[in-house]
Amino acid sequence: MASKSINELHFLLIPYLAPGHTIPMIDMAKLLAQQPDVTVTVVTTPLNAVRYGPVLNKPGLPVGFLQLPFPAMEVGLPEGCESLDALPSPDLALKFADAVDMLQSKLEQCFKTLSPPPSCIVSDKYLPWTADTADKYQLPRVIFDGMSCFKQLCDHNLYESKVFDGLPESETFVVPGLPDRIELTRSQLPVEFNPSTHTTSERLERVRETVLRSVGIVINSFEELEQEYVNEYKKLKGGKVWCIGPLSLCTYNDKAQRGKIASISEQQCMEWLDSHPHGLVVYACLGSVSRVNPMQLIELGLGLEASDHPFIWVIRDREVEQWIVESGFEERVKDRGLLIRGWAPQLSILSHPSIGGFLTHCGWNSILEGVCSCVPMITWPQFAEQFLNEKLVVQVLGTGVGVGAQFVVHWGEEEKFGVKMKSVDVKKAILKVMDSGIEGIERRKKAKELGKIANRAIEEGGSSHMNLKLLIQQIRDMNLHRSYSG
Ligand code: UDP
Repeated sequence: MASKSINELHFLLIPYLAPGHTIPMIDMAKLLAQQPDVTVTVVTTPLNAVRYGPVLNKPGLPVGFLQLPFPAMEVGLPEGCESLDALPSPDLALKFADAVDMLQSKLEQCFKTLSPPPSCIVSDKYLPWTADTADKYQLPRVIFDGMSCFKQLCDHNLYESKVFDGLPESETFVVPGLPDRIELTRSQLPVEFNPSTHTTSERLERVRETVLRSVGIVINSFEELEQEYVNEYKKLKGGKVWCIGPLSLCTYNDKAQRGKIASISEQQCMEWLDSHPHGLVVYACLGSVSRVNPMQLIELGLGLEASDHPFIWVIRDREVEQWIVESGFEERVKDRGLLIRGWAPQLSILSHPSIGGFLTHCGWNSILEGVCSCVPMITWPQFAEQFLNEKLVVQVLGTGVGVGAQFVVHWGEEEKFGVKMKSVDVKKAILKVMDSGIEGIERRKKAKELGKIANRAIEEGGSSHMNLKLLIQQIRDMNLHRSYSG
C-alpha cells in the first residue's frame, strides 16, 4: 500500500483563461490522465468548466475541474467575462488580469480539500502567483508554455543582448546566438520588448521571474520540428524542458468540440469540403482573440475572392458581417466560399483532404495544427510572438509564405493601425502557396513530411511520448524526495 501511494501522482493544471492557453492544457490534462497512477485536476472558473467540460468529462478518465468563482464584479468587469475572448472591450484587459490574480487566494482557500493532495502544479506562465502558491505548499511547479523552443530562445537572446536597443523601428537586426540567421525589426517584436497599453512592464517582469523559479518547462512542440532550438534551449534550462506536443493530436474523438461549440455543424462543414477537390480549398482563420480592424478584414475577404480558390473564412466581426451582405460579397462567392460566423471546428476542417492552404495569424496552436494536418500556410502575424512563429514557418521550416506584414498590431490597439495589407498582397501569398509549380510542390512535400513526423512523435516510443514519461518521472522523483525529507 505504501509504495502505491508513493507512486500515485496528482497533477494540478492551472491554465490561463483564454482559448489559446486553455485548449492545449485541456488536451494535456487528457493525455496525463491516461498515464498509469496519474490523477489530474484542472483549476478554472465555472463558465470555463462548462465550456471545456464536454471534452474532459469522460467515463473512467481520472480528471476533473476545481471551479473557482471568478471575481468579475469585484474588479468592475461585466458578469460572465471569465475568458479573455469574452471581454467586450480591450480596455478591460488590466481589470481582467487583476481578477485572474485574485484566483490565488480562492485556490488557496480550498487547497486542503484537494484529494489526493497535489504532487505538483503545472501552470501557465502568465499566472505568476502560482509560483507563490507552489512555494507555500512546497510543491514542484512546472511552467506550461504553449509556444515553441524557437520562441523561448529568441526571447532569451533578445532579453540578454538587447540588440535592438536604440535602433529605428523598421531597421532590421539579427537575433544573436540562434542556429539560423533570423532577422527582425523592433516593430515585429513581442510585447516583452515592444510596449503595449494593455499590459505593464512590471507584470511582464514578474512573468519572467516566475519562469526562472520553476522546476522546468513543458513545451507544446515536438523535438523533430525544431531540434537545434530544442537542444539549445535544453542547455540553457539544464535539461528541464519537455516537448510533449503536438497536443492537438491528443484530442482523440473530440476534434469538432474543441474550445467552444462551433457555429456550424461538423457534418455541414465536411459535406461542403467533400464537394470540393482535394488540396484546393483555403482555410482562413485569425484565431480566437484577434480584433483585426474591419477595413483590414474586408481586404482579407477580397483577397480570398480574388484568389479564385474555394475558401472557408471564419468571421467574428459584426461590421464585416454587414459588409459581406450589403456589398454583395456573399452572393458573389456563394458557390465557392463557406463563411463561418463565430467559432469554427478548426481541427476537423484542417484535417480534411480538400484543404490545401491555411491562412493563419500565426498563433502557436494554429501553426502546430497546420503542421499536423500537413498543410502549407499563408502567414499573417498580428500580435504577441506571432512574427517569431512566422519566421519559424516561412524561413526555418520552409512550409509557409508571408502576406508581408511588417509590424505588430498590438491586441486592443487595432484602430490605431488602419489598413496595411491590401487584397492584392493576400491574393499573391495565397496563389504562391497553392501554386502547382516546383516551389509549391516542394513546400507541400515538406509540409507533408513534417505532418507525418508530428504524428509519429506522440505515438508509443515517439519523442513526445518519451518526454511525457520523463516529465512524469521527474515529478515522481521530486515527490519521493519530498515525502522522505518531509
Ligand atoms: N480555434 C477554433 N475555432 C475558431 C478559432 C480558433 O477551434 O474559430 C482554436 C484553434 O484551433 C486553436 C485556438 O483556438 O487551437 C487558437 O489558438 P492560437 O494559439 O492559434 O491563437 P490565439 O487565439 O491564442 O491567438
